[in-house]
Amino acid sequence: MDLKQSDLTPLDEAQKIVLEAARPLGLEKIGLLDALGRVLGEDIVATRDNPPWDNSAMDGFAVRWEDLKQEHAIGKPVVLKVIEEVPAGKVATKAVGPGQAIRIMTGAPIPKGANAVVKVEETEPSADAVRIFKPVEPRANIRPQGEDVKRGDCIIPKGTPIRPAEAGMLAMLAKSFVLVYQRPRVAILSTGDELADLDERFNEDKIINSNSYGIAAAVQEAGGIPILLGIAPDHPAALKEKIGHGLNADILVLSGGVSMGDYDFTKAVFKELGAEMNFWKLAIRPGQPLAFGKIQGKLAFGLPGNPVSSMVTFEQLVRPTMLKMSGRRTLGRPVVEAVFQETFSKRADRRHFLRGVLSREGGVLKVRTTGDQGSGILTSMVKANCLIDVPEHVERLTPGDRVTVQILAPGIWSNEHQAAATGHPADCC
Ligand code: AMP
Ligand code: MG
Repeated sequence: MDLKQSDLTPLDEAQKIVLEAARPLGLEKIGLLDALGRVLGEDIVATRDNPPWDNSAMDGFAVRWEDLKQEHAIGKPVVLKVIEEVPAGKVATKAVGPGQAIRIMTGAPIPKGANAVVKVEETEPSADAVRIFKPVEPRANIRPQGEDVKRGDCIIPKGTPIRPAEAGMLAMLAKSFVLVYQRPRVAILSTGDELADLDERFNEDKIINSNSYGIAAAVQEAGGIPILLGIAPDHPAALKEKIGHGLNADILVLSGGVSMGDYDFTKAVFKELGAEMNFWKLAIRPGQPLAFGKIQGKLAFGLPGNPVSSMVTFEQLVRPTMLKMSGRRTLGRPVVEAVFQETFSKRADRRHFLRGVLSREGGVLKVRTTGDQGSGILTSMVKANCLIDVPEHVERLTPGDRVTVQILAPGIWSNEHQAAATGHPADCC
């Protein structure tokens, strides 16, 4: 779909096209210690119960609750004969019979015959007996077999990023190796005659290539592997050659040279190299000009060169693409509503992503901007912990207005876990 220069494409439309072109990558098996942040490529079904047997929640005495029934206990203690002692890691060799008790430690399996545990604090032990002053409920202080995990249940669905909690659960289910999605490899190329890289000598008329490093970090944060291709000058042949090097990766991300200037060659070179290109004037700010398409089967993005524009367009288009390729089931950042603290005006034509600072004051989520919102003001990203998503049709915001906020939290703190906690049906195995 080629658009006229005057057409502004809504971001939703561009996102739909981009995500339709992305496919989850293959799987690989890795060791559990390398699994943090990786995305599960298999449903994790419990192969055993946890706890594996009824066990004691307390240090105390395993008893038969019938022996301590109220009528026996009122006024005078019940005296039970202590026939054995079971520490955690041991199994009782005897069964608890009428008038008997077994000394038991937290975590130890409940002995046969016992149906409750009395806390040691509520007893008076002597050499081979124990005096108990109060009755006890049936099954008191017993952690039942399978109360945490039941054999056969799906515990973590495929597509979930692995956090410490998932790593612990995988270990508990005795999985020392786990199937995960491959990480997308993302080749990054900056374009512009004015650019100089960190490892070269340059004078004052050059601009340091900051985009490659910001984008590389964003790739890593999204779980991908960045491959830096350096800088291409504003020359079609040189650009073409560099792009060729990037086609070994899964995704190619260029920044700069995508506008309508005399030295903007990204579009022309993309066109020469492949079919089905989309060149958009996105209805967003920052980040209007954008190119996307498949070159030799690889997804290629031409992001605008301004540092903030490249980061915001990466957030809205490249990051969801990477998450889809990584097997993730939810592709957006966590989103919350917050109360806007300032006055802000714009034309009712484009969706704005204001760099914001989200805070909680008196139990209310509040958000303000980071100040100057120019697309070259990289400090606006440095100060931000969120993007304030102001819809196209909105012309004015005043203090007290409710706004939608995308939280720029680390990628593995994700919507998958939020959805799982609320029992969303799509998140079951
Ligand atoms: P362009 O999109 O090529 O017209 O670039 C727009 C602005 O972004 C120019 O002022 C460039 O100097 C700046 N810019 C482009 N690429 C980079 C980069 N890799 N790092 C930092 N600034 C850049
Ligand atoms: Mg340029």
